[in-house]
Amino acid sequence: MVTCDSVVSVPTYSITTYGCQMNKNDSERMAGLLDSLGFSYTEDEPNADLIVINTCSVRQSAENRVFGAQEKYLEYKKKKPEMIVAVTGCMPGRDKASVFKKQLPATDLYFPTPEMIHLPRWISELRPDLVNSDSLESDYLKIHPLRAPSVQAYVTIQTGCNKFCTYCVVPYARGLERNRSVKDILQECRELVAHGVIEITLLGQTVNSFKASDPGSFSSKNPYKDHFAALLWEINEIESLKRLYWTAAHPSSMTDEVIDALTLSKHVNYLHLPVQSGSDEVLRRMNRKYTREQYLDVIRKMKERRPGMALGTDIIVGFPGETKEQFEETVALYKEVGFDISYNAQYSPRSGTLGIKLYADDVSKEEKRERWDQLQSLMEETSKAKNEKMVGTTVEVLVDRMDHGYAYGCTHEMKLARFRPTNAIQIGTIIQATVTEGASWVLECELAK
Ligand code: SF4
Repeated sequence: MVTCDSVVSVPTYSITTYGCQMNKNDSERMAGLLDSLGFSYTEDEPNADLIVINTCSVRQSAENRVFGAQEKYLEYKKKKPEMIVAVTGCMPGRDKASVFKKQLPATDLYFPTPEMIHLPRWISELRPDLVNSDSLESDYLKIHPLRAPSVQAYVTIQTGCNKFCTYCVVPYARGLERNRSVKDILQECRELVAHGVIEITLLGQTVNSFKASDPGSFSSKNPYKDHFAALLWEINEIESLKRLYWTAAHPSSMTDEVIDALTLSKHVNYLHLPVQSGSDEVLRRMNRKYTREQYLDVIRKMKERRPGMALGTDIIVGFPGETKEQFEETVALYKEVGFDISYNAQYSPRSGTLGIKLYADDVSKEEKRERWDQLQSLMEETSKAKNEKMVGTTVEVLVDRMDHGYAYGCTHEMKLARFRPTNAIQIGTIIQATVTEGASWVLECELAK
């Protein structure tokens, strides 16, 4: 019997997350599962009972960090041999032949994300003193995420991908596309808003290709037939929600109805639409499934429906076979669209992808660097010019942190803004601010009069 004098020791866990917002949301789900098993989160990693590392495979550097940290975990285990180290996420997902696992000597559990449902049984086999449970949720996406208190929340609506771009590991690491039910998504969104969330970001690898297994869950008043547009409409209807955003979009799933849904009242004034290249030949070799003209057509329609919407993109330079002329087509497309921001990457071959089997990595490192520099400078100039045009306008900033006397947050255009508050400001409030200076990366503001 436990008396008030008994010391009850609660098992502890720590989680290190690499990579994208979806990985962060998966870690919240893992935290929810561990919380339900009676674990408590600790910052004291060397003394945790369970260390979870949620990995990312998009870049080699992220995988190298996981290999590099093994020494540290082996050291921890010298002092605490019963510690469990678990590696999950994209690395185990794509490591079908357990090649990486051999380089992870400190690792006890090694599983792709969806298999987290087995954690209760695996932990109880290794440490019966910690958990006595073989409870099993049938689908990891049904596990309730444990989120830090915030007015902003990520909601995963889809995992995996069917597109098989030739440079990308995602379809191998996360499997084919799977969508959650509309009923579950809406329930999660409504609960979040009831608990004070005012900004929801929907997550999926190609989120706008969402297909509902239960379209009957859409209300009869919903004007859209496209499932993703219909989902946006339903979430937009949730009272007290202020902002709605989603990522990542695929150009080939930007139907007219999805473009129309960009005008919903709570939709942020920003669209992130990865283009990757402005050359039809490079797009074909990337297996992106759209042409330059089709991409530009989406942008034209989008600008007609919602003029003034900020635009972001992802671009890869130095894809195998990319000539200088083909790169220049990307530069020309960048100028034509006038992106507010772009995340530029130099191509690097990833094991297990089709790209590595089909094409030689024949653009030199120096050439990739030069193209990247050129694009980066163009991005900084364009972004600065656009931000300068905002000087004197009033923007709405959702404050999400305080740092060195500044309040930081994003505007409706998802641009980073900061200002010096003149009185106490609560994190999570929306403030009207006037832009005083537009730099490439931040809008300097002051509180609106
Ligand atoms: S659309 Fe292409 S780049 Fe995006 S996750 Fe799928 S395969 Fe990867």
